[in-house]
Amino acid sequence: MATPAYPDTRLLIANEWVDAHDGKILEVTNPATGQVIGTVAHAGIVDLDRALSAAHSGFTIWRDMSVYERADIMRRAASMLRQRADEIATCLTLENGKPLAEAKGEVKAGAEIIEWFADEGRRVYGRIVPGRNTSAQQWVLKEPVGPVAAFTPWNFPINQIVRKLGAALATGCSFLCKAPEETPASPAALLSCFVEAGIPPGVVGLVFGNPAQISEYLIPHRVIQKVTFTGSTVVGKQLAGLAGRHMKRVTMELGGHAPVIVAEDADIELAVKVASTSKFRNAGQVCISPTRFLVHRKVADAFIQGMTQYAQSLKVGDGLATETTMGPLANPRRVVAMEDMVADARQLGARILTGGERMGSAGNFYSPTIIADIPLESKLFNAEPFGPIAGVRVFDQLEEAIAEANRLPYGLAAYAFTRSVRNVRLLSSRVETGMLWINQPSAPSAELPFGGIKDSGYGTEGGPEALEAYLNTKTVSVSS
Ligand code: NAD
Repeated sequence: MATPAYPDTRLLIANEWVDAHDGKILEVTNPATGQVIGTVAHAGIVDLDRALSAAHSGFTIWRDMSVYERADIMRRAASMLRQRADEIATCLTLENGKPLAEAKGEVKAGAEIIEWFADEGRRVYGRIVPGRNTSAQQWVLKEPVGPVAAFTPWNFPINQIVRKLGAALATGCSFLCKAPEETPASPAALLSCFVEAGIPPGVVGLVFGNPAQISEYLIPHRVIQKVTFTGSTVVGKQLAGLAGRHMKRVTMELGGHAPVIVAEDADIELAVKVASTSKFRNAGQVCISPTRFLVHRKVADAFIQGMTQYAQSLKVGDGLATETTMGPLANPRRVVAMEDMVADARQLGARILTGGERMGSAGNFYSPTIIADIPLESKLFNAEPFGPIAGVRVFDQLEEAIAEANRLPYGLAAYAFTRSVRNVRLLSSRVETGMLWINQPSAPSAELPFGGIKDSGYGTEGGPEALEAYLNTKTVSVSS
């Protein structure tokens, strides 16, 4: 199989693709082969200053355009993204490793999310509040918060951006993104669509470099009015602290450790199908990936057998190969983390039913792994695995499973399978989570709120609430 071309990525400042001022670059590696496939420009302070100044002037143009003009540009960009889905998906697979079909799905979902936000931007209304005195008019106005600094990760290089970008652009904000250095080409292809769709210079910007240096410079900067981050809870807390010290608005989309509760009365075939396909999507590197499987004792054998069969049926390989159903992990750090979690589980006496080892000598491949009898104190049941490992425990009473679901500080996503209305009511009122999917896979559609509670962050990146996070409220009272 001939490897398709992979582009070098530059910085996007004021609608120009430019090298870093000092010419510095970083290498980009294909996680399926371990080979360097390209480079990405590494921004320094001079570049960040130029990007900030562009974001400031872009904002003054964009906020004053009509929502209809803004929506037209967003729709044009979404349509280009859809037309280029094959080409962009190939880049995404080369840099991230996910199977091509998943990469295409991500690009197309990205286009749909942008379109939804373009439409929703037309429905940002203020209100008129009756005055206490008939000569007074009282208005509540909604205004864009201003230039936004966004920090996005490598697991969904397109979709982690579009949820932030869509809300920012729809409300009239400019958007400066520090996208992941591991996967720079697909974010660049996404933003190219906006430039070619006619967005004014500076409304969108893209930088790469040293993540800590860039966040420490952008977050306190007077131009930046809003910060949005997706990534680990540890980094999220640092950035939220910095934003708090500078009184910046924040949305934090952080890690999770999603429980999957399979009740005694569940449709086991459905539970196996949904849980296992969700578990191994993107090799488990998904913030809402199911991770703690809590199964009623009476159905545990059937469920574990079904999950194990599914894991063994996966074709692990280079995401560009048509037969591949699970790609490599995105970087070598994740393989080391998997090895550490599995060694810990083994040492604590858990049963590794399938997988549990690195695959091949090149690339970051790790086998789909199912672990039964996993102790509560294991690393796997406490730290977010972010990889293709499922740990299973049995329970006797639903209340026990709910207590386990709520034991950890995370609260992003949860899943449950049951046929009983009583259980549905109990689960929906007691599980501490931002999103709960019952008898179905996750459905993170743009029209629904998407976000976590507790250590999984705050704010939402879907539904009308997502736009609210990019708006200031101004009260104007006029007496004649
Ligand atoms: P990490 O915490 O080092 O990085 C996560 C992301 O944050 C990366 O994109 C990175 O570039 C960025 N980042 C790191 N330090 C930063 C800083 N000081 N300022 C700005 N951005 C910064 O972790 P990692 O090794 O890349 O990934 C491992 C863990 O991160 C996973 O176990 C998972 O918990 C979490 N993660 C979560 C998501 C998500 O979708 N919520 C996505 C990617 C990673």
